Amino acid sequence: MEDTKPEYDVVVIGSGLAGLSCANMLARDGHSVLLLEQHHQLGGLAAWFKRKGGHIFDVSLHGFPAGMIKTCRKYWSPEIADMIVQLKGIRFDNPQFSFTTTFDREDFTRILRERFKIPQENIESFFNTARDMNFYDDQTMTTRELFEKFFPGHDDVVRMLMEPITYANGSTLDDPAISYGIVFSNFMSKGVYTVRGGTDKFIGEMQAELMRNGVDIRTKCPVEKIVIEDQKVSGVIANGKMIKCKAAVSNGNLKSTVHKLVGDEHFSGSFIEEARKVRLNNSSCQVYMGIKKGERIDYIGDLLFTSVAEKFDSIKLCSRNITSRTFSVYYPETRPGSDMYSIVSSTNANYEDWASLSEEEYRASKKELIESTLDALEKYIPGGRGKIDYVEAATPKTFQRYTLHERGASFGTKFEGLKISMGLHEEIPGLFHTGSVGIIMSGWLGAANYGVITSNDVDKYLRS
Ligand SMILES: Cc1cc2nc3c(=O)[nH]c(=O)nc-3n(C[C@H](O)[C@H](O)[C@H](O)COP(=O)(O)OP(=O)(O)OC[C@H]3O[C@@H](n4cnc5c(N)ncnc54)[C@H](O)[C@@H]3O)c2cc1C
Repeated sequence: MEDTKPEYDVVVIGSGLAGLSCANMLARDGHSVLLLEQHHQLGGLAAWFKRKGGHIFDVSLHGFPAGMIKTCRKYWSPEIADMIVQLKGIRFDNPQFSFTTTFDREDFTRILRERFKIPQENIESFFNTARDMNFYDDQTMTTRELFEKFFPGHDDVVRMLMEPITYANGSTLDDPAISYGIVFSNFMSKGVYTVRGGTDKFIGEMQAELMRNGVDIRTKCPVEKIVIEDQKVSGVIANGKMIKCKAAVSNGNLKSTVHKLVGDEHFSGSFIEEARKVRLNNSSCQVYMGIKKGERIDYIGDLLFTSVAEKFDSIKLCSRNITSRTFSVYYPETRPGSDMYSIVSSTNANYEDWASLSEEEYRASKKELIESTLDALEKYIPGGRGKIDYVEAATPKTFQRYTLHERGASFGTKFEGLKISMGLHEEIPGLFHTGSVGIIMSGWLGAANYGVITSNDVDKYLRS
């Protein structure tokens, strides 16, 4: 913090994909921007880490919709957009069905018609309804009701349509149908995409672009307070130092932003009451498995949605007694020039299930998580254990520790969080939030797009 300027137009707190995109757009608009990140690397949940044996693990690079290409081209650079490539082998394996798909409308239509015998007109009508949903629609219909309308009695179809989206953003059948429709349709337009070069290269390119655009970046700088004077934002305090600014954008957890970084006393009673009702989304567990240098594995698909549960059940999906896992397989092509393979298993999880354990129970549970995951992997890579020379696990506590998200929330808040996030600057001029909220603004694409939306609001405020 030593060589920061005494004052900036905007301070962006947090460098998740929303914070990064917001900072980049504001700098491009000609504002002076300071980006403060508490962790030692940028990216937030778009994270990677290196381990002995030459392993690099990606935390949240499993797949996102094609829309990310347009977002990166327009708001970042053509070079960053060109790193994005399609994943063609999306595999499902559970007691109800087992197949590989390209995860787009055409292939899903074929599967619904041929395998599940759904009439073509129902399929068309479902896809069109989901695609035409938007934020201003009726928000009372739930995803359960949406499925019931088009596929009554088909719990197998519900599983195929819902399980991957639950993995992707933690939503359940009881969330508003529009949050499902928007996210699902984004994927269905062209399938699932990833970054060639890995998260490290992607975020590295973004960092270089931010620097070219003049953003001042500081890592290991936790913001302790957003300072409010005369009922508007006047600065932030980070590492004990006050930096003046006209606007502050928090990319941290929405609830921590309101209740901790700002403080309830600065908001109206009715706003705080609404903010308290915002529910956080669930958290995650992961197991990172590195294949020994020199070993190889056959192609088994890129993304494997596996489950041994009889039916789709969003409560079971979060249970510590794991029945469902998503395996992401990273072949050497993920990082051209490398000859390494790695596999990351992800599971949705409840924070309380892990935070309530004693130290001893926690260690034992983590071990059990690793062992059961290695066992589950053997079905797809026989003898897989013998090829793995590095394994490590993350739990909701890990996610909380590295991102400061309350209860390790992986996908921000439930739907009601969006209104609170978007309403901050109406309560306190100069105060903004961006980042995973309301289900639709989460994931790589949702977060990056929300960063751009927030930057437009900040720009308007600064110019007014
Ligand atoms: C296990 C897992 C798998 C996922 N897989 C996918 C996937 O395959 N595809 C996909 O699209 N999405 C995926 N996601 C979701 C996606 O990664 C996130 O939605 C997205 O990256 C969130 O971006 P964000 O901008 O909301 O902020 P975050 O990534 O949450 O970052 C917030 C940043 O703010 C910083 N911060 C917080 N408080 C402070 C403070 N006081 N001072 C300074 N800095 C602070 C944090 O350190 C962090 O860097 C996954 C998430 C998880 C957990």
